[in-house]
Amino acid sequence: TTDLLAAPAATTRSEALFARARAVTPGGVNSPVRAFRSVGGTPRFIAKADGAYLTDADGTRYLDYIGSWGPMILGHNHPAVREAVAEALPLGTSYGAPSEREVLLAELVTRLTGAERVRFVSSGTEATMSALRLARGFTGRKYTVKFRGNYHGHADGLLVEAGSGLLTNADTLGAAAPSSAGVPEDYARLTLVSEYNDPAALDALMAARGDEIAAVIFEPVVGNAGVLIPTPDFLAALHRVKDRGALLIADEVMTGFRLSLRGATGLLGLEPDLTCWGKIIGGGLPVGAYGGRAEVMDFVSPQGPVYQAGTLSGNPLAMAAGLATLKTLEADPGLYARLDAYTAALAGGLRAAAQEAGVAISINHVGSMLTAFHQGVPDGSIRTYTDAARSDTAAFAHWFQGLLARGVYWAPSQFESIFVSAAHGDEELGLTLEAAQAAYASLG
Ligand code: PLP
Repeated sequence: TTDLLAAPAATTRSEALFARARAVTPGGVNSPVRAFRSVGGTPRFIAKADGAYLTDADGTRYLDYIGSWGPMILGHNHPAVREAVAEALPLGTSYGAPSEREVLLAELVTRLTGAERVRFVSSGTEATMSALRLARGFTGRKYTVKFRGNYHGHADGLLVEAGSGLLTNADTLGAAAPSSAGVPEDYARLTLVSEYNDPAALDALMAARGDEIAAVIFEPVVGNAGVLIPTPDFLAALHRVKDRGALLIADEVMTGFRLSLRGATGLLGLEPDLTCWGKIIGGGLPVGAYGGRAEVMDFVSPQGPVYQAGTLSGNPLAMAAGLATLKTLEADPGLYARLDAYTAALAGGLRAAAQEAGVAISINHVGSMLTAFHQGVPDGSIRTYTDAARSDTAAFAHWFQGLLARGVYWAPSQFESIFVSAAHGDEELGLTLEAAQAAYASLG
């Protein structure tokens, strides 16, 4: 088991692939954070994944804390998921017509989450984009509200003061609204931005503009500014937006089926009008979904006037992977408690290792999500994007490289959550803390 802690591995093949990739793909990657821009070094090109581990093109094994950015809650290559996809494969890969697995997954998702209707799409971005159109169609209003540092995918109107890769690459993209070139000011103007965990700011915005606002969209636990946990006062203010006739949209793309079978909504006792899902709902294949009350969802075409469609929506292989994942989660009632316990032990171990080395960190964690911010404030006190942005990203990058050199593949940005999977056990915890101790020691 000490092979993970051997001397830094060769990256010859990853480097060669990265060079070829840069010649044919912008920045050499198909999603920005994968390029390691903010931490430096060569992004590892992955050849295979199994359980809690990735193996790169050079044959080096890494203990994975990204889990494909959330979907792989069961670990990679889980037998139930693999077998479900293998069973579906010979039956054809796409129909463009309805099929039974879509009904089965919709029945399961509605039963687990309390949504009355659900519509499947192929990514989290499509889910949030569609939910906002639906909210505008349903309310007849045009403005929406989001929170600084929350990320809801890359639709035009949502790339405003956004988190995730937009924070990581803020130097190139510009942190001010809009967050990306190519988003017209005219679109950005329709998205009003408030501060997460600031109930007074949200109340004031709703008092001033409430009757123009179609929806307030939010991450119920933020992963995309690093982990931020909502305060009870903020959750109460979120619920008050409904009194103004705005729809409350919980973006559970990251937290859905991760923080509980009913997501953060279940954990925090939230009652959103609409919920967006992605990641785990497709078990590692491309699936997103949005759902909620029948009265609202029946505004979606062909039932209602709000258009939304997809060539690959309800894809049979993707439905099979999602079904197998959710059924496996449901069949193991102790799983969430085990994920919590692992993550709490990881937080405790990181805290002790950082203290020992004299490195200042502040940990936020909930369920199987965790961020160790490099700054000297008490654990749990980082509550807003502005707080998170005070982190020492150079120290983080150094620590990240220290972990990677010891075989632990952490999220390559200070402003991301890591994800623990069911395949992470005592051995993985031990390896991680040993690597973390050495990485903190080299910083202290
Ligand atoms: N919403 C949240 C909360 C997310 O974390 C993400 C992706 O990380 C998205 C939406 C967008 O999902 P996708 O990348 O599948 O388009």
